[in-house]
Amino acid sequence: MDIRVRFAPSPTGPLHIGGVRTALYNYLFARKNGGKMILRIEDTDQKRYVEGAEQYIKDSLAWCGIEIDEGTEQGGEHGPYRQSERKETYSKYIQLLLDKGQAYYAFDTAEELEAMRKKLEEAKADNTSYNPLIRKEMTNSFTLPEAEVKQRIDNGDPYVIRFRMPENEIVHSKDIIRGEIKVNTNTLDDKVLFKSDGMPTYHFANIVDDHLMKISHVIRGEEWLPSLTLHTMLYKAFGWDVPEFAHLPLLLKPTGKGKLSKRDGDKLGFPVFPMEWKDPKTGDVAMGYKEEGYFPEAFINFLALLGWNPGTEQEYFSMDELINAFSLERVSKGGARFDQQKAQNMNAHYLQQKDDGFLADLFMEELSKKGISAEKEYVTKVVSLVKERVSFVPEMWEQASFFFEAPTEYDAKTVKKRWKEQTPALMKQLIGVLEATKPFSSAKTEEEVKAWIQAKELGMGAVMNAFRLSVVGASKGPHMFDIIELLGKEETIKRIEKAIEVLG
Ligand code: GLU
Repeated sequence: MDIRVRFAPSPTGPLHIGGVRTALYNYLFARKNGGKMILRIEDTDQKRYVEGAEQYIKDSLAWCGIEIDEGTEQGGEHGPYRQSERKETYSKYIQLLLDKGQAYYAFDTAEELEAMRKKLEEAKADNTSYNPLIRKEMTNSFTLPEAEVKQRIDNGDPYVIRFRMPENEIVHSKDIIRGEIKVNTNTLDDKVLFKSDGMPTYHFANIVDDHLMKISHVIRGEEWLPSLTLHTMLYKAFGWDVPEFAHLPLLLKPTGKGKLSKRDGDKLGFPVFPMEWKDPKTGDVAMGYKEEGYFPEAFINFLALLGWNPGTEQEYFSMDELINAFSLERVSKGGARFDQQKAQNMNAHYLQQKDDGFLADLFMEELSKKGISAEKEYVTKVVSLVKERVSFVPEMWEQASFFFEAPTEYDAKTVKKRWKEQTPALMKQLIGVLEATKPFSSAKTEEEVKAWIQAKELGMGAVMNAFRLSVVGASKGPHMFDIIELLGKEETIKRIEKAIEVLG
């Protein structure tokens, strides 16, 4: 069997990370099995269409390294891949179901539908939807004479086309992750397949396209599980083979209670979208993983583990390793709890693996935002000293600002604790030692300064803490002698002199 999977987003807004994970699992499954990955844009709901969303989805997938084999950009044998361009196909296929008596016209007005629902609710009916029993009491091609149906259509009366759900039938569906699922059709309804605006609904367009695009495995979010029986019935109504299904677990809030929403992200300060999204209507900007400084490798590694586990202790996976290790059988049934700390740690891990020159380029972009320009060679050395201390490139500034700007103030707590009466005299002597040290390398300055401290029995802490305070402005930063090697003799001495002057 040819393995063909699809990611089928609706361009109704930015792609939630749950959607990215769905795309990722589809992609991993396709690549693992030598199959094809299709991107289909499901834009039949014109009311919910959002300008820019389709491009955002494509850009996000590209940033993640999820490659598309067939789609609106790539083309392919089974296009067009945008549903709004497939209207004729849907009209043709709905006619097939109408001809077979598996679908029918319904003319009920919104008021009539509402009245029906109320009546059923009052009667405490188990199923208050438009179901096979109710169908007999409503205005549709089963209850109206054929001539009237035709006349209403010719008149241009509004109608929808509904699926004729059989009565009291047990439908068996299979899900790779959840096993066998049995549903009695009495609990379902005669779903609308075509809307009054002449557009197919999601359900109808989705199964027609999955069939015509020869999709072998439908891998999608758990929120679609309730539609599985209807979809199975639609395939059967056409007499088509039913593809394999896998419904992925939900992404849950950090508390584990409920679905992860954009509001959780805003409240707790983490992104729920892969990239920044600017709402075209409100102008509101929602943060993205990319802009927050995540590397795509870290993002997909982290995302892959939200709902799937390799069954081993391995935690870090490149895309190729994910492809190798992935299987739908190891996707969990239960929801996957979002853990922000894990996401950060993952990024920190990838950051440590990066080449210093690569990180320097990124850090230089951050520096230039602050109006600071520096030599790449210098920034590369700075990066090599501070990268262990950060999870994201933008955090480097916090750890490294003193490499670019001499302190203008000194951390008050540290001053109180570390700057004593005898400190200025010690710092003056230190200047003398540094002055005489050649070459001004980390190793050599360390050797000379330590030898001096020991010979004079000055106490390591008494000198080194004040030394750091003078050069850095606080009690933080990497190895002191590495710092001064980078700053150079002149700058180092200037900073100590300034500290003596300011702190007295
Ligand atoms: N267009 C649907 C969505 O937005 C696709 C669901 C499916 O994969 O069948 O999620």
